[in-house]
Amino acid sequence: MDDRSSASLWKEAKELFPGGVNSPVRSFRAVGGEPFFSRRAAGATIWDADGRPYIDYVCSWGALPLGHAHPVIEAALLEALAEGTSFGVPNPREVRLANIIRAAVPSIEKLRMTSSGTESCMTAVRLARGFTGRDKIVKFAGCYHGHSDSLLVKAGSGALTHGEPDSAGVPTALAELTAVLPWNDPVAARDLFAREGKEIAAVILEPVPANAGLLPPLPGFLDQIRDLCDQHGTLLIFDEVITGFRLGMGGAQERFAIRPDLTILGKIVGGGLPAAALGGRADILERLAPEGDVYQAGTLSGNPLAMAAGLAQIKEMERSRAHARLEELGAFLESEIRDLLRRRGECHVQFHRMASLFCLFFTENPVCSLEAALGSDRKRFAHFFHSLLRQGVFFPPSPFETCFLSTAHSLADIGKTVIAIDQALKES
Ligand SMILES: *Cc1c(COP(=O)(O)O)cnc(C)c1O
Repeated sequence: MDDRSSASLWKEAKELFPGGVNSPVRSFRAVGGEPFFSRRAAGATIWDADGRPYIDYVCSWGALPLGHAHPVIEAALLEALAEGTSFGVPNPREVRLANIIRAAVPSIEKLRMTSSGTESCMTAVRLARGFTGRDKIVKFAGCYHGHSDSLLVKAGSGALTHGEPDSAGVPTALAELTAVLPWNDPVAARDLFAREGKEIAAVILEPVPANAGLLPPLPGFLDQIRDLCDQHGTLLIFDEVITGFRLGMGGAQERFAIRPDLTILGKIVGGGLPAAALGGRADILERLAPEGDVYQAGTLSGNPLAMAAGLAQIKEMERSRAHARLEELGAFLESEIRDLLRRRGECHVQFHRMASLFCLFFTENPVCSLEAALGSDRKRFAHFFHSLLRQGVFFPPSPFETCFLSTAHSLADIGKTVIAIDQALKES
């Protein structure tokens, strides 16, 4: 068994991987200091390689709404494992998970399984272009849709804190086909559509952006975008990689009663293993190969272990009424934090929450867009983050990420967290 310390693993990792990591935000670049390695997590607790426990608000970036190492998922994985890890032919679990997704998300009439959110978003864009015969797409500043070329333009998540939201290596000719709009600004959207509507294949958005902090849509904004798309023959793509199965079984589209043409799911649908999906109107999905002329494929797509984990997690969420519990925990955390902010007379902190998603922005101004989020105090966030970490609370290591509650978080965990936040606000 590998019992090396976090520090010694980090030293070696820096020699092996660019920035020491296999996904940028893990490097702690946005907050400074060294990231910790982990070899074990259970429930709401993640341990670093030196055995120190943390209350975890990252929860694998939202993939684990029931917490780490859930026994039901573990049992499902062991059962699937005994039957083989990958077949290269269709397996029954793909059909079972697809049926559960379709029943939960009515706009999804047909779907394709993939292995990552990036892959699903990339395919959605290609499919929208193939279906409409148009080349332009529209996204919103601060929304993250994975790292395919067309979508890595003014993107959120790690792309925000690593210098360039616009990556090197994306050909200008391609980036020019991606128009970027400010979030929560219907006038800007209307203007763009008035000029170029007939050339726009698709609008892609996170219905509740959670990759530049949490930026809920203003009332009516999503309806306005749906109307603009309808008026111009443009497809509306909801990237529900975070919100899917988190804001309720039907995701954000159920909560806001909007029917997108295409939907991306990820994170929760894989139960902690690599799986994602792209679904939507049957007439659009039928354009995918081998039925249609838009190509997409994947050696490990619909992988039986990933399907087993996703199935077990989603079924267990439904059985245990996880969404009601997540809302209860979120509401409790919100009232405690708002009390604390009031008690401390903190007018330089904005607290946002929706269901089990929440974040703090260190600014006195209301935050409804990426621009406003970027105006928050990053240095204070870094001090705040490290104070929490010292106290055994792990928040996402960036001022532009969202915290995730799981059903494994107890009221006592939240109570401890609020005390730690009080101390961290003092120290930052
Ligand atoms: C995480 C995320 C993605 C990318 O998913 P990967 O599996 O990391 O490729 C896409 N969209 C949103 C909204 C995400 O949060």
